[in-house]
Amino acid sequence: MRVDLQQAVRLLKAGNVVAIPTETVYGLAADATNDEALCQIYAIKQRPMDNPLIVHIADANQVSHWAAEFSPLAQKLANAFWPGPFTLVLPAKLDVSLIVRADQPTVALRVPAHPLALQLLKESGLALAAPSANKFTQLSPTMAMHVTAGLGDNIPVLDGGACKVGIESTIVAVQRDDWQLLRLGMISEAEIESVASKASSMFSQPIKAPGQHHLHYSPRTPMRLFSSRDALIASANVYSAALLIGEGLQPACQIFQLNKNATDVAQQLYDTLHKMDALNTSELLIEAPPNAPEWLAILDRLTRAAS
Ligand code: AMP
Ligand code: MG
Repeated sequence: MRVDLQQAVRLLKAGNVVAIPTETVYGLAADATNDEALCQIYAIKQRPMDNPLIVHIADANQVSHWAAEFSPLAQKLANAFWPGPFTLVLPAKLDVSLIVRADQPTVALRVPAHPLALQLLKESGLALAAPSANKFTQLSPTMAMHVTAGLGDNIPVLDGGACKVGIESTIVAVQRDDWQLLRLGMISEAEIESVASKASSMFSQPIKAPGQHHLHYSPRTPMRLFSSRDALIASANVYSAALLIGEGLQPACQIFQLNKNATDVAQQLYDTLHKMDALNTSELLIEAPPNAPEWLAILDRLTRAAS
């Protein structure tokens, strides 16, 4: 069911979950200090309790409520990339819910760059845990209708249109003046390196980012990734559907074609996979993106979806 901003604020303050728009994907949000509300997120998503949740905050001033350490390097990265598709994993204060951080000594924080999400955070005064609003391992939602299709109409959804980035945030752990990439996203390793003025490094105490499951982001229809257009064409038949990136020869099956532009493909990727999945074909044939840095996050999601 659709709710407006004021209804979403009321529901969240009362300890309920609400699906909310962010610039990455739609999140299933709950008060990050309310363990009962947090447990509803895990239950609805059927997400394992050892897979921690990202806490969404209104601005960088909130970090001190959650993190025991906000080093100059972490502040520099926050200044450069917030609001935006960038998550910082920092040492957690002891009073941060063990449910939201799944017993980790760290907490994951992000300031989203979506006007409705920011308004919701400000007007509610809450910090919101908000993993993607889909069942565990399934395709992430980038439109309100994807949330309803995946979780049912009983979930309240705040409709903020199509997500502009379209894939999940880049996750970086920071301890003092060291950083480490935990998940690829549209903010690239090179951009982080340039802001940090140093390459990533290994921590003396290795950081765990549980939940980076190999099988993830998957449509129901079996999916295969092809490193060349020719190989894809050779495997196509009337029972398959193909996702092509850019111009070129076409296979003899239903076709979805995206422009050869990484920003556009990321934005449209999950919606296209949702549409392809709905065709109930026997197989989805996916053309792998070019082997270049700006495509790495897309390749990561496609590889997991196809595994
Ligand atoms: P998402 O599935 O997009 O909500 O992102 C959640 C992912 O962020 C988890 O699967 C972890 O890999 C990472 N993460 C979240 N919270 C923490 C934490 N407290 N410590 C380390 N990694 C975290
Ligand atoms: Mg997810």
